[in-house]
Amino acid sequence: MALDSKIPSGPIEKKWYDHKFNLKLVNPSNRRKYHIIVVGTGLAGGAAAATLGEMGYNVTAFCYQDSARRAHSIAAQGGINAAKNYRNDGDSVYRLFYDTVKGGDYRAREANVYRLAELSNNIIDQCVAQGVPFAREYGGYLDNRSFGGAQVSRTFYARGQTGQQLLLGAYSSLSRQVAEGTVTVHGRHEMLDVVVVDGKSRGIIVRDMVTGEIKSFAADAVVLATGGYGNVYYLSTNAKGCNTTAIWRAHKKVHFWKSMFCADSSNMYPCKW
Ligand SMILES: Cc1cc2nc3c(=O)[nH]c(=O)nc-3n(C[C@H](O)[C@H](O)[C@H](O)COP(=O)(O)OP(=O)(O)OC[C@H]3O[C@@H](n4cnc5c(N)ncnc54)[C@H](O)[C@@H]3O)c2cc1C
Repeated sequence: MALDSKIPSGPIEKKWYDHKFNLKLVNPSNRRKYHIIVVGTGLAGGAAAATLGEMGYNVTAFCYQDSARRAHSIAAQGGINAAKNYRNDGDSVYRLFYDTVKGGDYRAREANVYRLAELSNNIIDQCVAQGVPFAREYGGYLDNRSFGGAQVSRTFYARGQTGQQLLLGAYSSLSRQVAEGTVTVHGRHEMLDVVVVDGKSRGIIVRDMVTGEIKSFAADAVVLATGGYGNVYYLSTNAKGCNTTAIWRAHKKVHFWKSMFCADSSNMYPCKW
């Protein structure tokens, strides 16, 4: 099976920048016409749902915990790396990119790591705007520390509870959008399958974990933010919920779809066999 990570072409520092620039934008007044499903309400899904809701889209979010606050993200402890170079110790986007690729044993997708490094500074700013109480120096500036063997100080943290504080920040933003009416959250719902129409995901099938009822939800786009898959290994510090159920089901669906259809760069059409 060929793995296609769909990384855009071009020099590494411009791949995602150019791709984003060439995307069609949705006019702010048209966003309310679109419905987006976000599966997962951890740091990734919670923040995505809140941001999309704030942008004006109609968002329905799902998780299988009883509250968005209980995603596994709450367990993260050490902090988040960002190339802000506050200590003037030689940090840069490129150095964070380099250290992360090296830390990942040279197995990470480099273009995506570059983008992570590039976005790192904005992520810290977004979290601060969400009210995350990062540790600060006496003068009020954000503190940071050297972490994970890095030669520079770039880890922003909230004592030993960074993940908890970050998730509470994302949850506050999510709750704000729920109150605004742009986001609906369904806790205790497990995604069972993705609905694919003409090669695009247009909805999901879920099980209500309280009543057992199977339900379907339609949307214009589906975001899977369902976390890691640590529990495919015998030993893991991840929560038992990090069990790769959603991403595996989506993978099986796409694999099945591809076996039924052939694709060129822009279309999918039935294979002639
Ligand atoms: C002990 C520990 C310490 C860590 N420390 C750090 C750190 O210091 N710094 C750092 O950057 N990272 C750290 N990490 C990693 C970091 O916590 C995770 O990478 C990150 O929190 C993952 O966020 P997420 O939103 O992708 O996933 P999660 O928080 O796991 O959220 C997954 C969401 O998907 C939902 N979901 C999953 N499957 C389904 C399904 N089938 N149907 C419906 N919903 C589903 C869940 O309900 C949940 O809401 C640490 C991890 C661990 C385990």
